[in-house]
Order: sequence, then C-alpha cells, then structure tokens
Amino acid sequence: MFKEELLTTIRTEKRNTLTEVEAKRWLQEAGIVKVVETVEAKSKKEAIEVSKKLGFPVVLKVLSPDISHKSDVGGVKVGLKTASQVASAYAEIMSSVKQKQPAARISGVTIQQMARPGIEVIMGMSKDPQFGPVLMFGLGGVFVEVLKDVSFRIVPLVRRDASEMISEIKGFPILKGYRGQEPANIPLLENTLLKLSEFVDANPEIKELDLNPVFAYKDDAVAVDARIIMEAAGSPSQS
Ligand code: ADP
Ligand code: MG
Repeated sequence: MFKEELLTTIRTEKRNTLTEVEAKRWLQEAGIVKVVETVEAKSKKEAIEVSKKLGFPVVLKVLSPDISHKSDVGGVKVGLKTASQVASAYAEIMSSVKQKQPAARISGVTIQQMARPGIEVIMGMSKDPQFGPVLMFGLGGVFVEVLKDVSFRIVPLVRRDASEMISEIKGFPILKGYRGQEPANIPLLENTLLKLSEFVDANPEIKELDLNPVFAYKDDAVAVDARIIMEAAGSPSQS
C-alpha cells in the first residue's frame, strides 16, 4: 500500500517531511481532495518534455526535501506558456534557490498544470499538546498571513463543526460570491474538511498537514500545494 511504501522511503532517507509530490499523491489516493497533476523532472530538458505533455500553461516549482516555503526562495513560477519560458523559469529557480538557501539539497522541479483562477482557501492540521489534532480553515494569501482570519476545530469533526468553521471566518461573504465573482461550493469544502478529519484521525503518524492553497470553485475544489510532516519514528504520539 502507498502509505507503507512512503513510510519505508522516508525512514530510509531519514526525513520526516514528505515531498509535495508524495503529499499530493497520498491525499489523492486516500480520496481526500483533488490535486493538480504534478510531475517531477530532474533536468531542464526533462522539465520541457513534461510541460509539453501536460499542456501549457504550466507551473514550475523547486523540489527539495529541505524547502517547504518555496516562494520565499524564488522557487515558484506560474503561468509559463512556452517551452522557452519553462527553460528560463528552470534556470531562474535554480539560481535563486542556490543563492537564498545554498545548503538545500535540490532534487529537481515539479511541473504542474496551472489551475484556473478560483478562491484560494487553506486547510491545515496541527497537534495541540492538550487537545490533539486540530483542523484549521481560512482564505488563502493576505487573509491568513496578515489578517489571521482562520477558524479551528478539534478532531474528530462532525458536519456542524465543518459548516461553522467555514461560515464563521470574516471572509465568508467572499466564498458565497462577492460582486459577481464565482462562489465556492461550500458543501464540497465541508466534505473535504470532514474527510480530512477522518484522514488525520486514521493516520496518527501525521504530525502536521497543510493544503495551502486549495482553489475553490462553484463546482469543484483542487489543491495546488500540499505539505505533510510525519512524527519522528518511535515518537510517543504514534500509536
Ligand atoms: P509555497 O511553498 O510558497 O507555499 P505554492 O506551491 O503554494 O508554494 O505556490 C505559491 C502560490 O502560487 C500559490 O499560493 C498559488 O497562488 C500559486 N500556485 C501554485 N501552484 C499553482 C498551480 N498549479 N496553479 C495555479 N496557481 C498555483
Ligand atoms: Mg503553498
């Protein structure tokens, strides 16, 4: 099973953080959330080949076990429309990352389909020493970073928790469709939170999880970035 393979891999490689590709694949296989198609490449040439296969526009991101905030080191380039833009983006990512975080091991890049514009939301799980796993919900970008407009509930969630988590954030009107903007599918977001609650409950080896962001649409919800950190092997919270 994918989870067992994954745990073996990270233990062999002595790391606790899953790569973006591993995290997305696990969440997708567990049926928690749709993710944008994400493929690894180890060279510029391979990145161009993969981009052509996926179809433009694409997104290029640095793939490194040591980097979890990729934009902070110039590791994300969106909206690449041609092979030559992919080639330049690849070179720019490599030089920026080497300059900003010289010690980081770089495995290559991921190439992803560019998700169509939607409302960016975030969902996350962290563990509270007293309450255990807690889920977080909010709108992405400036809403979470500057305004801290987020809500929390203790796992396991019931539907009412999921529904309240979404409706109690200040940015809720944006999700309902603001000035002619496309609304988000709120029942689908509730279901995703409920599935996430079951997922972290069933997998106590997960220490931290972030879907940041999920693009929410009228008819769909798609994660474009995912981060999962596992408990250290032998940690007491693993049962
Ligand atoms: P970071 O590690 O910095 O969080 P992300 O993968 O979240 O990197 O990318 C940064 C931003 O780029 C996202 O918040 C989102 O707005 C945009 N983005 C990332 N991936 C995609 C994608 N596949 N399609 C469209 N936009 C994307
Ligand atoms: Mg992100």
